[in-house]
Amino acid sequence: MTSTVTKLFDFDNTLAKALPELVLPWQPVEVPSPELVAVNREVAAAVSVDADALAGEAGVAVLAGNAVPDGTETVAMAYAGHQFGSYSPRLGDGRALLLGEVIDSEGNRVDLHLKGSGRTPFSRGGDGKATVGPMLREFLMAEAMYALGVPTGRALAVVTTGEQIHRQKPEPGAVLTRVAASHLRVGTFEYAVRLEDRSVVRRLADYAIERHYPDLVGEPSPSMELLRSVIGVQASLIARWMLVGFIHGVMNTDNMAISGETIDYGPCAFMDRYDQRTVYSSIDHQGRYAFGNQPTIAHWNLTRLAETLLPVIAEENGVEPEALIPVLSDVLDTFGDRFRADWADGMRAKLGLSEAADGDDDLLRSLVEMLQEQRLDYTSFFRSLARTLRDDGPVPEAAEAWVATWRERLAAEGRDPAEVADAMDAVNPIYIPRNHLVDEALAAAELGDMEPFDTLLSVLTDPFTERDGLDRYAEPAPEDFDRTFRTFCGT
Ligand code: AMP
Ligand code: MG
Repeated sequence: MTSTVTKLFDFDNTLAKALPELVLPWQPVEVPSPELVAVNREVAAAVSVDADALAGEAGVAVLAGNAVPDGTETVAMAYAGHQFGSYSPRLGDGRALLLGEVIDSEGNRVDLHLKGSGRTPFSRGGDGKATVGPMLREFLMAEAMYALGVPTGRALAVVTTGEQIHRQKPEPGAVLTRVAASHLRVGTFEYAVRLEDRSVVRRLADYAIERHYPDLVGEPSPSMELLRSVIGVQASLIARWMLVGFIHGVMNTDNMAISGETIDYGPCAFMDRYDQRTVYSSIDHQGRYAFGNQPTIAHWNLTRLAETLLPVIAEENGVEPEALIPVLSDVLDTFGDRFRADWADGMRAKLGLSEAADGDDDLLRSLVEMLQEQRLDYTSFFRSLARTLRDDGPVPEAAEAWVATWRERLAAEGRDPAEVADAMDAVNPIYIPRNHLVDEALAAAELGDMEPFDTLLSVLTDPFTERDGLDRYAEPAPEDFDRTFRTFCGT
C-alpha cells in the first residue's frame, strides 16, 4: 500500500480534469528499499521543492513511488503510436506515471513524471520496471542537452529501489523522476482521434494550444495554427540535434513531444566521427532513425499528427476533410524550409559567420560532404576551426581545402578573428557525452561508485568552457569502441 505524505509540491493537475479519457488513475508499485542516487538541485529549485526535503525519507519515498504526495492523483497516460513505421493502437505509460503538474519558477506548467514505477494496464508484456544504468543515462543525456541549449525535458532525481531487475543480466532497479513541459505526444493525438467520442481530439487540441501555444487562442482556425506551430518547434528542435550530433535513436510518434522538447531518452547517443548513416540502437536494423534521417522522420511523424488534426481543422473551416488534404500537405512541406533555415543559421554561427550570403548553400554542402568523406570528429572539428583563427593549432589535413574557402568567406565579413573565434567557442561545445565515457560512468554507478558519473555530469554541465585536466573528455571514443557500440531501448 502506498501512503500519502505531507506537501512537497504544489500540484495543480489540469490534464486529468480536461481529458479524463486520456488518463487512467493508477498507483505506483511499492519497492523494498529506496535510495537516492542522483538529485538535480537546479531542477528541484525550478519546481520549488527543497532538494534537502527530497533527499529526506519522505522525499525519497515519493521519488520511489512508495508514497503519493498530498494534492495529486497519479495517472498513467494513454497514447498510441507508430513504432518503426507500424501502428500500435495502445501504448501508453507502461512503466511510468504522471505524478502531477506544477507551476515552475518561470510560471510555466510542467509535468512531474515517474519512470520505472511498476506495471500499469498499458504494460503489455513488460515488467513496468527500469534499471539504474538507463535511468542515470537519461539524467545525464538530458542535462547535457540542456547545457547545449537544446529544448529538453530534464531529470529531477534517480532512486534505486533495492530490487534486482532481470534484463540481459540482473540489474539494480531504479525510478527516474523527470520534468517536462508536458508529455503530450504525437501518439496522444493518434490515440484520441480513434476514440468513439469525436470530441476528445478537439478538446486535446484546445488543451495543447492553451498549455503550449496560448497565443493561438482565438485564431480563426486554431488547430491549423497548432499544426504549424508544432511543425515550427520540431523543425527547430531537429536542427539543434543535427548541429550537435545528437541521434535520438527511437523517433517513434509516441516519442515526439507536442511541446517541441526532446523526450524519452532511450537508445540515444552523440555521434563522434561524422557519418550520416550512424545508428547506435541495437533494434534499428534498417537505419530508419540514423543521424541523417532525422529530419525526414520528423516530417513523417508530423504527417501523422496532421492526419489526426484533419477532422478538427475541417470542422473549424466548415469544409470536407478531403478538401483539406492538399492544403495540409503544403503546410507539412514548410517543415523542410524551416528546418533548413534553422540548420543553416546554426551552422553559420558554428562557423563564425554573422550574416547569410550568396554561396552559403555551397559552402555548407561542401562542409557536410567533406565531413562525411573524411569521417572527422564532428564536435572537435569546429573547435579546431576557432583555434586556427587564433593561429593556435592546425585543422585536420583532410579539411585544409575546405578551410581555405571558409576563411575567404569569413575574411569578407571583415571581423576581428580573435572575436570570431570566441563567438564560435561559445556555440561549439568542447565536451559532449562521449559514448565510451558515458558507458564507463554507468558501469561504475551500477557497482555503486557514483564518482565517474558525478564528474562527467559536472563536465557536461558547462560544455563550452575549456578547462585544464579534462582532455580525455574532449576526445572521441577509440575507433574500435565506436564500431561496436550499441544502445538499447526499454531497458
Ligand atoms: P519506449 O521505447 O521507452 O518509448 O516505450 C515504448 C512503449 O513500451 C511505451 O508504451 C512504454 O510504456 C512501454 N514499455 C517500455 N518498457 C517497458 C517495461 N519495462 N514495462 C512495461 N512497459 C514498457
Ligand atoms: Mg517512449
